[in-house]
Amino acid sequence: MFAQSYGAVTFGLSGHIITVEVDISAHVPSFDIVGLPAAAVKESKERVRSAIRNSGYRFPVYKITVNLAPADLKKEGSGLDLPIAVGILAASGQLPEEALAGCLFLGELSLRGELRPVPGILSMVLAGKEAGFTKYFMAPDAAQEALLADGIEAYGPATLADLAEGLLGRAPLAPAERRDPLPAPEETDDLADVQGQLVAKRALEIAAAGAHNLLMTGPPGAGKTMLARRITTILPPMTDEEALEVTKIYSVAGLFKAERILRARPFRSPHHTISTAGLIGGGSIPRPGEVTLAHRGVLFLDELPEFPRSALEVLRQPLEDRVVHIARASASFTYPADFILIAAMNPCPCGYLGDPDRECTCTDGEIQRYRRKISGPLLDRIDLHVSVARPKYSELTASVRVESSAAVAARVAEARRLQRERLAPWRLHTNSEMSRRQMQETCPLDREGSALLRQVFESLRLSARSYDRIIKVARTIADLAGRASIAAEDVAEAVSFRNRISVK
Ligand SMILES: [Zn+2]
Repeated sequence: MFAQSYGAVTFGLSGHIITVEVDISAHVPSFDIVGLPAAAVKESKERVRSAIRNSGYRFPVYKITVNLAPADLKKEGSGLDLPIAVGILAASGQLPEEALAGCLFLGELSLRGELRPVPGILSMVLAGKEAGFTKYFMAPDAAQEALLADGIEAYGPATLADLAEGLLGRAPLAPAERRDPLPAPEETDDLADVQGQLVAKRALEIAAAGAHNLLMTGPPGAGKTMLARRITTILPPMTDEEALEVTKIYSVAGLFKAERILRARPFRSPHHTISTAGLIGGGSIPRPGEVTLAHRGVLFLDELPEFPRSALEVLRQPLEDRVVHIARASASFTYPADFILIAAMNPCPCGYLGDPDRECTCTDGEIQRYRRKISGPLLDRIDLHVSVARPKYSELTASVRVESSAAVAARVAEARRLQRERLAPWRLHTNSEMSRRQMQETCPLDREGSALLRQVFESLRLSARSYDRIIKVARTIADLAGRASIAAEDVAEAVSFRNRISVK
């Protein structure tokens, strides 16, 4: 006896439909799953067997062969429990096969037969829609996530027994209804909360406008983290397409808890003890890492030199390519990783080098060693460097009106628009993405700007890379001011944000 059902797995961020073929024959009882199942799928046998028995159905005492097609795709995770169980019920004549037509089954089973949610529901449902499936069955909690894909019928039966009774028509299931999402949390952070720090705030504005990576150097208590967090309040809102993409990432990572598409740009701040796999992605069941969770948003690395050098080295590739490639024995795949990097560090191990009020206790050797932990190639990918001092008492108590995030966001949005239009022929969006060729074509300097740049280049003996970074930053500064050509003041400000950390 033979039956067929359908399930899905995720690979990278995309869902793939899996055909589950079940053959039952009158031989010595056995239960085999073939078709490149990973360990978690093999374990499915025990769960499926118990779940069927504990749901009041018969587990056939025959030779059962389950084939997962396509055979060349490695199947990870526990989400195939449900289509396997349904396939066995159909092949053993306990469910009519016609009832499975157009149905996609997505879920893990408990030994008692309860349906459990699995990561990546949204990606799998979107793949199902493309393949023409009309009905989707999953754990009750997962149904709301499935409904983010428009125009589908999702069902969330609590147990395998409820599902089977529904398919048999004995106790029809009602399709899940979209619940009203909880109101989005009020954005409470605002740049206006930060007194003083005008230069650091300006650096954040430039970083947001041109998608430039930023390194803040300053003593403990200077407010680096507080400043970094507020960049999301001045970045432009995500487009619908970006929002869906980010939601898929959080779904596949198993971090999706909301009942709405994610709208806020991600801000990720992993601790420096994070593993390389945690930062980049991977693991035995591959999951997106922090660089992918920060996609379309910000990756904040506080205390940059404390991160293992190996972790910082692997950051170079996603910073360069805006995607991350993960190679594993079974397959390799690519996750998106287009983020703004904001890093923070102390000026020296004790933190007080250059502080007017406290004395630094570090030796020159210690300071050199500390800074050498950040490699030159990583620094090359950071366009903006800024020193952040502890605010003075007078700044904290001053009652000067400070600009709100909304006012800065408006300038950022306009600067982004100018960049998009200018860089459209190359399909780029922001100045930080420009190569030499695009810089030559889109970054004209006026006469004074040109003269100042030559003077700075010669007197500071800048490298070609520093020169490029200054041009890109100056272009963004001119965009914020609405200037077509780069002026001397844009060059001067860009030079003030150049790298001052010498790394040998
Ligand atoms: Zn020190």
